[in-house]
Amino acid sequence: MDITQIMVTISGIILIGLTLWFFFGKRAEHKSIGGTELYTCPMHPWITSNDPTADCSICGMKLVRNDGTIK
Ligand SMILES: [Zn+2]
Repeated sequence: MDITQIMVTISGIILIGLTLWFFFGKRAEHKSIGGTELYTCPMHPWITSNDPTADCSICGMKLVRNDGTIK
């Protein structure tokens, strides 16, 4: 097999892989609501704020960024 043919094949596979990764990576990142950061209390998930310096109105804990892992 010609080395050039192998290189082209590998480049094609890498290109397709990068394209897929770029697509799905971007889609997964785009999970936040309306593009705004949402901060929530770890103990009281229904307490939410767009202000990163806000505290929970129930327990006074600092709100943490909700990246979709906390339900
Ligand atoms: Zn709280």
